[in-house]
Amino acid sequence: MSKNYSIETKCVQSGWQPKKGEPRVVPIYQSTTFKYDTSEQMGRLFDLEDSGYFYTRLQNPTNDAVAAKICDLEGGYAAMLTSSGQAASFYAIMNIVEAGDHIICVSAVYGGTYNLYAHTIRKMGVEATFVDPHASEEELNAAFRDNTKAVFGESIANPALVVLDIEKFAKAAHEHGVPLIIDNTFATPINCHPFEWGADIVIHSTTKYMDGHAIAVGGAIVDSGNFDWEANAEKFPGLTTPDETYHGIVYTQKFGKGAYITKATAQLMRDLGSIQSPQNAFLLNVGLETLHLRVPRHCENAKKVAQYLKKHEKVAWVNCAMVEGDKYYELAQKYMPNGTCGVITFGLKGGRDASVAMMDHLELTAIVTHVADSRTCVLHPASHTHRQMNEKELLEAGVQPDLIRFSVGTENADDIIADLEQALEAVK
Ligand SMILES: *Cc1c(COP(=O)(O)O)cnc(C)c1O
Repeated sequence: MSKNYSIETKCVQSGWQPKKGEPRVVPIYQSTTFKYDTSEQMGRLFDLEDSGYFYTRLQNPTNDAVAAKICDLEGGYAAMLTSSGQAASFYAIMNIVEAGDHIICVSAVYGGTYNLYAHTIRKMGVEATFVDPHASEEELNAAFRDNTKAVFGESIANPALVVLDIEKFAKAAHEHGVPLIIDNTFATPINCHPFEWGADIVIHSTTKYMDGHAIAVGGAIVDSGNFDWEANAEKFPGLTTPDETYHGIVYTQKFGKGAYITKATAQLMRDLGSIQSPQNAFLLNVGLETLHLRVPRHCENAKKVAQYLKKHEKVAWVNCAMVEGDKYYELAQKYMPNGTCGVITFGLKGGRDASVAMMDHLELTAIVTHVADSRTCVLHPASHTHRQMNEKELLEAGVQPDLIRFSVGTENADDIIADLEQALEAVK
């Protein structure tokens, strides 16, 4: 879709462009497979000589329409959907590393991402170094090795709410000939455009604000098309040397700017198969149609709740980068001036026990693992999502033991505040 349309118009209209007599709304292509007239036609698809649908594990028209919308929202070149955000984080890295390689990851990231990079990919022979988001240029440069292949961070971290200095990380990555991959789940493309600040690849857990209704787990990978794999060919043989499983095609030569997403689709999806179901892609698209309406409301409500909590005598601290005086206020003004996200964190003067006790008194606000949907919800990361981490790992991930992650929904802010008021009243 034309890049001239504003983000609101893209949320509503991008991705599915029906021709005469076709359905106005993207249909659910609930079909595993697609029909051809000759054996030769099908054979050419398997050689990547023609593009076309043949099996939903690789590509499906519903998924492609929704991926195209997300691509447009991010200002990218190509995109794909995955079955979950975790699959997106995994594929984004596995597409460019091999056993013996190394990646750099910002320490303040989602707990699942930390486990994936710190432990699971290590068993596959890929090592990760975790760096402080506030690392100086020198400290950052020192983390690179000859076998480093990527740098990964979150535009605004779940749940630490660290706003990443994307330009600083992009510069360090590019000086070492590797791409910067940004998880833009919490900010969404409504509030932050990582590609404009030098990021090369963006990933999403679409499960969160993009879906917005907490009905479908999903993920997405978007490539800006800007990273020059050929210029660093020796680092990325998977993209720049022949793939024998496709009769020796070289992705960068055959697909140019589309090399990264084509390889992730034609090779990783073929072999590992974490595709999003077309039904979920359809639901995701319904969510995307209101993303531009919901995200500003989440932010407005979150700011009101944060300001209320800041003044409360039982509250020790509040993190919300939309409130002046917050540690990340200035960075947020630069990278996401219209707002950060609906998630805020806070701790109580009574410490960890008081935080947990307060949560049990909430009525409107539900205790759920989820975050970033329309219904206000709450979680205690140290007891829940980050339960496997020891105290040191928790602090490195920016998760204080008393931290309450409060995901402000799109209800009336006064009702959310009243719920907090009565729960805070109830704890000592
Ligand atoms: C939830 C989340 C993920 C993982 O996504 P799933 O869809 O749950 O697999 C990754 N990154 C961030 C920032 C998240 O919040």
